Amino acid sequence: MHPNATRYAAALLAMAVGNALAADPAPTGRALGLLRSHAQAARASAPDRFVARDVIVDKDGSQHVRFDRIYAGLKVIGGDLVMHSRHGRYQGVSLTQSEPLVLSVRPTFNSRAAIVAAGAEFGPDFSGTPESALVIDARTSAPSLAWQVRLHNERADMTYLIDAHHGRMLDRWSNRETAAANGTAHSLYSGDVALVTDSVFGGFEMRDPSRGNSRTIDGSNSRTSGRVYKDADNVWGNGTVSDPATGAADAQYGAAMTWDYYKNIHHRTGINNDGKGAYNRVHYGFGYNNAYWSDSCFCMTYGDGDGTHLMPILSLDITGHEMSHGVSARTANLIYSGESGGLNEANSDIMGTMVEFYANNPKDTPDYLIGEQVFVGNIAGSASQRALRYMFNPSADHASPNCYDSNIGKLDVHYSSGVANLFFYLLAEGTSAKTFSGVNHKPITCNGSTFAGVGRDKAQKIWYRALTVYFTSSTGYAGARAATISAARDLYGATSAEAKMVATAWSAVRVN
Ligand SMILES: [Zn+2]
Repeated sequence: MHPNATRYAAALLAMAVGNALAADPAPTGRALGLLRSHAQAARASAPDRFVARDVIVDKDGSQHVRFDRIYAGLKVIGGDLVMHSRHGRYQGVSLTQSEPLVLSVRPTFNSRAAIVAAGAEFGPDFSGTPESALVIDARTSAPSLAWQVRLHNERADMTYLIDAHHGRMLDRWSNRETAAANGTAHSLYSGDVALVTDSVFGGFEMRDPSRGNSRTIDGSNSRTSGRVYKDADNVWGNGTVSDPATGAADAQYGAAMTWDYYKNIHHRTGINNDGKGAYNRVHYGFGYNNAYWSDSCFCMTYGDGDGTHLMPILSLDITGHEMSHGVSARTANLIYSGESGGLNEANSDIMGTMVEFYANNPKDTPDYLIGEQVFVGNIAGSASQRALRYMFNPSADHASPNCYDSNIGKLDVHYSSGVANLFFYLLAEGTSAKTFSGVNHKPITCNGSTFAGVGRDKAQKIWYRALTVYFTSSTGYAGARAATISAARDLYGATSAEAKMVATAWSAVRVN
């Protein structure tokens, strides 16, 4: 059930009064006074109550106070109005309701029957418990008492208005197409960030209509699906783990940056290049020290970390990593074992790192470390930060090789990725020492060669073209060398310096 109309009104009032108080306490009270003295213009009747929702004050002192109407405790759809005044004097009222309301608020068609009527149209596959509330539909000259029923699932989120006496469907609308809203979030790892959210009945959902409805749901420490995060004021999280919405904001921000990265750099719209967003599931399990992509749910799952070694597994490079598993699954579909598995993991580290460079967030300055922000005790910018992986020197994790040998396919895929990670680093940045995010990146080549690299912009385009055009599900290291050389030739010419540099960088990690 929705909170009843009165509680909904009270919440609105608290918000609106809060806003008004910040600037000038007077406009709302003054406008309420004018509503009483101009009741006829406002089409007010005795059971009406008005709840301020917005205040606009012009430079010349004109005030425009927007009110929602509550009739006998019920929300009145179409009963809203704007009271205009200047220097306390009535200037007029804007509204569409044509007559004062006079009607019974006792339904003869019950809530359950209204839900059945809505379900007949929506289909039986709705999620959760249907929400219903009595309202007044005052948009016509014959206002009616109605049930407002909301039904939703992953595909749709609909509101239905059903006549509370005759059971007639009065109206229906989607709660999704309406309103991309601009929210802000206090994230855990990326500071204060902007989030595009969805304006829905009673607040905002962490769902981004501008990015294919990418959304974040609350795992609530269970292992099943949860609800999309909802918030009343569109300000999410508090920058610490004490607020569950904080980590949700990191996931949603990471998904937005990854979406933008693929769209703007690679002209790919969404993981599946079909404009549809995926969803994030956060707070998965208890103390879960990992994150993963699942192709079957087309979703990312993030654990909270055990708090001893790892904090929530939600930094930007990790969200980019997980979504890039999705891109691999929908393109080369590199099998997750042997050398192809190592390339699959490397693809995610490479693209996750390029997302980090793309976002260039001041609280997460880009580098070629993977996941350094999630380690308990790491200090940002310090040279000795621990990380899950080190692309410029994979062997720094004491498990991943820098140089290829024919047994590499026997390693765990998170280690056999090392050779490709170092290849990419060398292709992009070359062999001389560089500092990123306070950390000295000094690569070592397997053959002692030195060279300059082609830069990140070209390196990422070469890799992406190889992944999407040439890699197949069982591509191994030799195939990856050939594929990336082909990609560089396509992009920059058959005899280009870029194509030669790809070969040079592979040779430097002993893939010949
Ligand atoms: Zn992975």
